Amino acid sequence: MGSTSTPGRLTVISGPSGVGKGTLVASLLQRHPGLWLSVSATTRAPRPGDIDGVTYRFLDRERFEAQVQAGGFLEWAEFAGYLYGTPRGPVEDHLAQGRSVLLEIELEGARQVRRSFPDGFQVFIKPPSFEELERRIRGRGTEREEAIQRRLGRAHQELEAEAEFDAVLVNGDLDQAISNLEELLNLG
Ligand code: ADP
Ligand code: 5GP
Repeated sequence: MGSTSTPGRLTVISGPSGVGKGTLVASLLQRHPGLWLSVSATTRAPRPGDIDGVTYRFLDRERFEAQVQAGGFLEWAEFAGYLYGTPRGPVEDHLAQGRSVLLEIELEGARQVRRSFPDGFQVFIKPPSFEELERRIRGRGTEREEAIQRRLGRAHQELEAEAEFDAVLVNGDLDQAISNLEELLNLG
């Protein structure tokens, strides 16, 4: 974990579903208002607490695919049966303004961004153990059993990819993880 990012860069936060990416990113945004988080598009249904245009832009598959065809995504991927993508325009606009941009995305998307933004900084968040990951996904209570199983299956694959990332952070104690993440991103 020797390297850190510089301000104004594109930072990718990735890691298996349920590891705590959303929790960590929400805390970073609250503590560092200069950061900007990209709002992804998805074909999955909103969960309680989701707000269209704020947590995600909810699209049907047809509209999502039309946006793919139009080159409107910086990256996109299928995850656990649904499509997820990062709208290109807002990211490019914020980077052009010198803003620090965060993407919270899964592994395939992170790989695409690594190709298009080789200077970006990519952090992989991992759980203290697979058992704890399962406890967190179940504890969140937002998915049915079938979706939980798909996410846990995918998690095995994602956990094997940690060596591809610029930094790996274990989200054990939350406060410690937030402070380690701030250090990695040079947020002071
Ligand atoms: P992700 O965005 O990676 O899918 P979430 O941020 O939704 O994960 O977190 C999944 C669950 O784990 C949530 O219920 C969250 O409150 C909990 N959680 C997150 N970080 C920690 C932590 N460090 N210790 C214990 N529970 C955590
Ligand atoms: P969830 O359905 O739990 O909100 O998200 C499922 C997974 O999709 C998470 O790993 C999340 O990081 C990822 N994800 C969210 N938005 C995007 C996106 O725009 N692109 C990609 N590739 N993955 C995304």
